[in-house]
Amino acid sequence: MDDLQFGRKNKRGDYTPNDPLEPAPVFVWPPRPLKFLSWLPHYFLPWNALFFALGAVFWFYATPAKETLAVLDWRWMAWILLRNALLVFVIYGVLELRLYINRAQGNRFKFNGLFPSDRKSDVFLFGSQNIDGIIRTFGTGVPIWTAYEVIMLHLWAIGWGPWAVFGDNPLALIALGLLVPLIHEAHFFCIHWLIHQGPLYKWVHSVHHNSVNPSPWSSLSMHPVEHLLYWSDVLIHLVLPSHPLLVMYHLQVTGTGAVVGHIGFDKIETGKDSAIDSHAYAHYLHHKHFEVNYADGLVPFDRLAGTWHDGSKEAEERMQLRYAKKKARLNSAAGAPKA
Ligand SMILES: [Zn+2]
Ligand SMILES: [Zn+2]
Repeated sequence: MDDLQFGRKNKRGDYTPNDPLEPAPVFVWPPRPLKFLSWLPHYFLPWNALFFALGAVFWFYATPAKETLAVLDWRWMAWILLRNALLVFVIYGVLELRLYINRAQGNRFKFNGLFPSDRKSDVFLFGSQNIDGIIRTFGTGVPIWTAYEVIMLHLWAIGWGPWAVFGDNPLALIALGLLVPLIHEAHFFCIHWLIHQGPLYKWVHSVHHNSVNPSPWSSLSMHPVEHLLYWSDVLIHLVLPSHPLLVMYHLQVTGTGAVVGHIGFDKIETGKDSAIDSHAYAHYLHHKHFEVNYADGLVPFDRLAGTWHDGSKEAEERMQLRYAKKKARLNSAAGAPKA
């Protein structure tokens, strides 16, 4: 596919899409019902529909029975850990293999013209973005995800929490199911903004930002404290009436779904003239510029905070102005006489 029909490349080979990012037409005033309807399929396709399907397969075919979950036993917990690890290995692995090892589409649609493996970097364990990411993903990421899942399933099995069944509360559960990606993003904005502040950035979140040119194994390459915060969005199911199927879907959106922002390509080619949108651009810009796009535009928080970057020249200028003001503020604070 000719990526230059959809975007442009600079001298380094970095790809920029022609169309600036559009925030989701959900929280806009005045409401835009037609725009909302034409956007709606993108809310589900391709990613959230895939994550719901994966969550449903896990719930119906790969989760032990209620009686088993009611007793904390390492054997079923180990099974949950294994199946989560296998899924991440397959999904992240397939994307890595196709796009980064086989380089099946070269650097067509690739935001950063370079491939991370072309350059060793001391910031990573063993000098490799991939090895570092794999160690952190399976060392603390998937185990912490599994710990949340084990706790939620066990509490459901012993009847602790506002659990509901579809037969009695179909509308409440469907509404919650539809809101899961929004809840995830609102929560992510909050914890993400938080870990960009002062020492939390230095000690915790800088680990994730070592990937300036993110690739699939960067997705869950985080400090364990970030992993703990990252999956805590699932605790909402102990507050609102819910069902374990929705917990499984939510864990997929948060866990497996972390890969969406770290694909590194704007489109994944599926044939000679066909491709699917990765939806990775907003988070790529976050990795490139750091203090923009704490979320992906589904919730309006970045627009309200003035940190939304849609990839346009105007957004770039706004960001540079904001950074210059911040620098001046920090300089004057550093130079101010101590009281
Ligand atoms: Zn990231
Ligand atoms: Zn960040």
